[in-house]
Amino acid sequence: MSVIAVHGGAGLWRREGEDEVHAILREALQAGGAILRRGGKALDAVQAAVEILEDAPRFNAGRGAVATADGTVELDACVMDGVGRRAGAVACVRGIRHPVALARAVLDHTPHVLLVGAGAERLADEYGIERADDAWFQEVQGLAGGDPVPKGQAPALRRAAAQTPIEESETVGAVAVDIGGHVAAATSTGGMKGQWPGRVGDAPLPGAGTFAEDGVCAVSATGDGEAFMTSVAAHEVAVLVRHGKLGIEEASSLVLRSRIGGTGGMVVVSPRGEVAMPFTTPAMARGVLREDEQPWTAIGPDPGN
Ligand code: ASP
Repeated sequence: MSVIAVHGGAGLWRREGEDEVHAILREALQAGGAILRRGGKALDAVQAAVEILEDAPRFNAGRGAVATADGTVELDACVMDGVGRRAGAVACVRGIRHPVALARAVLDHTPHVLLVGAGAERLADEYGIERADDAWFQEVQGLAGGDPVPKGQAPALRRAAAQTPIEESETVGAVAVDIGGHVAAATSTGGMKGQWPGRVGDAPLPGAGTFAEDGVCAVSATGDGEAFMTSVAAHEVAVLVRHGKLGIEEASSLVLRSRIGGTGGMVVVSPRGEVAMPFTTPAMARGVLREDEQPWTAIGPDPGN
């Protein structure tokens, strides 16, 4: 039985534009689900779903990514295949339409796991990963192309980022299990609005914001990146499943509620097709598509929670 689950970030529950959010989540689920139904790989399914979300200006990834304090858009993404725990990731890349596709190129074409900045962008040209100019990215439009952060502003920026991350975060991600029982995860983000240029969050770090291991689970996280990094949150869920013998629902809720010390959410899938989608913010755009069923999507708390 194949399953795909997606998220569009943990944050506030904004009522305006809800229909659009549901429609994009469904489109992403259907793109990934079509691959799974054909017998395709979980890895291909999560990439396809995240590419749809990266094109939607509504989310903080790809086209809709938030700007740094300099007015630039810097993108992070990771894909991880449960088969052999192989990962590819990029951080701090600019002018790439689908950062998740570039992360996949790192996985497929290099012996490395994480490439950053100009080196990663060069790989895009080598492997025909689509570039996008400034006009594609909505937060770059109308800005002067990125004025440097004024000297001495770092502490203020840090405080501002600490106070405002969650409302602004609509990081995207997907997890899937294919009919072969293999799992995969993908996450893509523009980071935190107004972040210091060069800041990298948890999303592109295997084990922190993204993790997949066959026989265990696949995880894509969203939220307070610094807290997810230092608690190695996605891997922590896998450890509780692998060694603690907890189910994915219990493991992910435990990590989110008592291990992280920050707010956020995650989508998790098990090799048996169970799905967990806990969050500690008021809302998390999310959805699930099981083989032969209709897509299910939600933004606010689950009824009964
Ligand atoms: N975790 C992301 C980051 O820290 C932000 C988010 O999920 O909204 O870059």
